Amino acid sequence: MRVLVIEDEPDLARQIFATLKEEGYAVDVAHDGEEGHFLGDTEPYDAVVLDLGLPLMDGLTVLERWRRSEKDMPVLILTARERWNEKVAGFDAGADDYVTKPFQMEELLARLRALIRRAAGHASVQLSCGPVVLDTRSGRITVNDATLKPTAQEYKILAYLMHHQDKIVSRTELTEHVYDQDFNRDSNTIEVFIGRLRKKLGVDVIKTERGLGYRLCAPEGAKEESGEKPERKAEKNAG
Ligand code: CA
Repeated sequence: MRVLVIEDEPDLARQIFATLKEEGYAVDVAHDGEEGHFLGDTEPYDAVVLDLGLPLMDGLTVLERWRRSEKDMPVLILTARERWNEKVAGFDAGADDYVTKPFQMEELLARLRALIRRAAGHASVQLSCGPVVLDTRSGRITVNDATLKPTAQEYKILAYLMHHQDKIVSRTELTEHVYDQDFNRDSNTIEVFIGRLRKKLGVDVIKTERGLGYRLCAPEGAKEESGEKPERKAEKNAG
C-alpha cells in the first residue's frame, strides 16, 4: 500500500513518514500543496494524509482539484482543534475522514487502515483468502493458522494482493503501489518476490495471468471458507 503525506511542518512530516514506513507502507512526502497536488494527480496512491494549512496551495484546494478531476483515492485530512469548520469544509471538498491535531499516531494508523480497507471493498479488519489470513491491525499474516514471516517487500506485495483479491493486478500496478517514489523501480523484481512468496505460502493462491499479471484467489475447494470473518470488535478506533 502506498500513501502520500502532505504536511509542511517538518517534524510532523518526518514523524508520520517514519511511522508509516514502520507499518510497511510505501510513503511519499510533499511539503507544500502544489507538489502534493501534482503527486496525487500523477501517481497512484492507496490513501493520502493531507494537512489543510499548506504553503503554495491550501489543502482544501488540493482536495477539490483532485475530486474535480475524478481522483477518488481515500483522503484523511489533518485539522486544527480550534477550527471545527475545517472539518465541514473538508468533507464538503471530498475528504473521507479527519484527525484533529495533535493526534496519536495510533489513531492516524487505525483510520488509514480503515480507509484503505473500505476503499478496496472490505469492511472487516481481517482479510481472508482460503487458508491465508491478513490481520490488518497487527499486520500478521497466517497460513492455516501458522504465522508467515515475509520480508518487508514480500509483505507489501501480499498485503496489496490481499486487498485486491480475485482481481488481476499487473506488475506495473504492483510496482506502483509497493514502492515509493525514490525507490529504484524494476518490475522484474516483482516476479522474484512473487516466487519467494509462493514458496513461503506453500499454498497455491497467487495465480499468474499470462501477459496480464497476478490474481490472488482461494485454492479450489477452499472457496467456501474464504471471505471475511466478522471480527469487528477492535474497530472502535477506526470508525
Ligand atoms: Ca500546516
